[in-house]
Amino acid sequence: MTKRKPKCISGEQVSGSYSGLLDHIGHNVVCVCYGDMPEPANVAIECEDCGCVLVDFNYVDETACQKCGSKLRRNGKCSDQTCPYSDRQQHETFTEG
Ligand SMILES: [Zn+2]
Ligand SMILES: [Zn+2]
Repeated sequence: MTKRKPKCISGEQVSGSYSGLLDHIGHNVVCVCYGDMPEPANVAIECEDCGCVLVDFNYVDETACQKCGSKLRRNGKCSDQTCPYSDRQQHETFTEG
């Protein structure tokens, strides 16, 4: 695994902000990942010229039902028909009856 570069910081602000990105206009900005494809642990937008991370996101498993662990369908609902999330989105809350 490639060693992470530090986030670019100008003053108090990290680069994932208006003024942070403004510093990189005209630079070579690339999208890279850390970890193995197709689900690397982290993906980042980096500036090659400055050698720093502009924005990055960690991997979150959004493909499995948080209640029963079944695979989610493309519409975000559980593929298990007996699961209450088969007709609800994962973030919806409800009272089981
Ligand atoms: Zn830059
Ligand atoms: Zn489920």
